[in-house]
Amino acid sequence: MDNISYLRVSVTDKCNLKCYYCRPDNLEFIDKEEILSYEEITKLVKAMTKYGLQKVRITGGEPLVRPEIEKLVKMLKDIPEINDVAMTTNAITLAKHAKSLREAGLDRLNISIDSLKPDLFYQITKGHLSDVIEGIKEAKKYGFDPIKINAVIINGVNENEALDFVKFGIDYGLEVRFIEMMPLGQGQISWDLNMVKPLDKVKENIEKVYGKLVPSESIGSGAARVYEIPEFKTKIGFITPISNPFCDGCSKLRLTAEGSIKLCLRTDEEIPVKDILRYGSEEELDNFIKMVLVEKERSNANIQESNYQFSECRRVMTSIGG
Ligand code: SAM
Repeated sequence: MDNISYLRVSVTDKCNLKCYYCRPDNLEFIDKEEILSYEEITKLVKAMTKYGLQKVRITGGEPLVRPEIEKLVKMLKDIPEINDVAMTTNAITLAKHAKSLREAGLDRLNISIDSLKPDLFYQITKGHLSDVIEGIKEAKKYGFDPIKINAVIINGVNENEALDFVKFGIDYGLEVRFIEMMPLGQGQISWDLNMVKPLDKVKENIEKVYGKLVPSESIGSGAARVYEIPEFKTKIGFITPISNPFCDGCSKLRLTAEGSIKLCLRTDEEIPVKDILRYGSEEELDNFIKMVLVEKERSNANIQESNYQFSECRRVMTSIGG
């Protein structure tokens, strides 16, 4: 592989929600001094621009719980080669941050919502849907567009809400993306295949009401198959890591909060970079990135060969950076 298109940066393993499939009860937090500083993250991003990096997504844990996250947004936006800085958030405190994030230069927002029913939302997350809705309204007020809503569809839990999400997208002018649940670590439950709702069924149900969805061009990481409801210009995306993997040619990397490069969600393979960022020379960092490119190519080939199996992934999404 000779370039990096996209880096997802987890800035913390802490979260202000407790989604039952994502967050174990006994999660041990990383010591503060082990977490990469904003300067260290920026140093890595800058070094990666030499290999084509233009897009960065800030995630977590919950990125908005890390103090002064706007500072990191600004530092990344100040790198001339970086033309897109996005954030994935649960939006619980977005109402408070929307203006300052916009002023810092944040380009795009993805917001995770797994239910539009306040009671079910609380059961899944132990948080309040009303805070998220407030966050979306503020984000719209400050000009974030598009805002993408990410909903993990879980069999027997929220599978009947797909049409509600579509209506919500139409009403609020949001792009909606449905995601199949992946076998990552263990939250408060263990993953099993019965929890996965194959999204082609969801798409069929949407088409029964809104007519044929039309394939669309959408800015993003390429993991979603995106369609449009022509009548409303509403975009609907489907991320199908289980029923229909879409990994060929992936040049996406993840940086964990404690400073390791994770090559792929489907394996536990990580390569630590913290010590190089803290104590190494520019040349060592450059050699590290070249090595990562080779390893990513090898990892892509292995994943393809294993027919896109998830090998044992001990980390839950909240500690990977979703
Ligand atoms: N706190 C932020 C948020 O809620 O968007 C960012 C981190 S969160 C881990 C990112 C996304 O990962 C959320 O949309 C969450 O639903 C999703 N996620 C967590 N575990 C997952 C799994 N096993 N399969 C699919 N998506 C998962």
